[in-house]
Amino acid sequence: MEITTKEITEYSFCPKLYFFKNSFKLTPSLEEYYNDTLHRLMHRFLFMARDGEVSAKELKMIWASSAIVQRRKSKFAYYSPATWKSSISEFNKKGVAAINFLLNTYPSLLGSVIAINEPYRVILSKDIEIAGKWDLIQENKGTKEIELIIFKEHDKLAHVPPTQDYKAVIDTLAFREKFNITEGATVLQSFNSEKKISAKIGSPHIKEAIDSVKNIHKAVTSGISFKYPSYRCKSCSAKLICRMNGVNGQQKA
Ligand code: SF4
Repeated sequence: MEITTKEITEYSFCPKLYFFKNSFKLTPSLEEYYNDTLHRLMHRFLFMARDGEVSAKELKMIWASSAIVQRRKSKFAYYSPATWKSSISEFNKKGVAAINFLLNTYPSLLGSVIAINEPYRVILSKDIEIAGKWDLIQENKGTKEIELIIFKEHDKLAHVPPTQDYKAVIDTLAFREKFNITEGATVLQSFNSEKKISAKIGSPHIKEAIDSVKNIHKAVTSGISFKYPSYRCKSCSAKLICRMNGVNGQQKA
């Protein structure tokens, strides 16, 4: 049965939240929406850059239409009229900063584009298949190496070491299988600053991630929440009230 890299990442961030969100079909938070819009913006920019025609107007339209949709949703879902207005204005400010970064700074970091937002599949066992997407595969300008670029928000870049970041590890596994290489460069790159981290992901990290994915897959498909704690649970300040172990949660809808 298929599991997506996104599901794995969301579960590993907080198993409890993952099940609540899926059981109650919650509207994505403004932060999630912001992250999703940044991804769409970056992908569109990359396609335009690859084709040699970058339109600032089109990038602004992407952000503006996203803000309109979000305004409609967040008006009712989360915020009082006063707070949603300031949240949307913050959302737009971040959009301006991201677009300026893409137009003025990012082109000097971009190598030769090979693939953008390309889907992949990794078969882990006869009943587990992971579906995901690579953000960008490019030939590095200086080294001429083929590298995998994973975009993240600037302030989330160093939240988790790349070797424990499930998206980074699984994307890398699929990337190496596809290009038939045992070692290949994986780079975590900020959406809106020049900051980046080169990830040294080795076989032990991949094996560890695969073991976790198997457990997450079991928890997600059986609909039993909190059975398999994530790496965050150990240090989570809510772990005592969360009653992680042995507690059956909501059935997956
Ligand atoms: S211990 Fe914390 S991170 Fe783990 S499921 Fe509970 S709330 Fe989420």
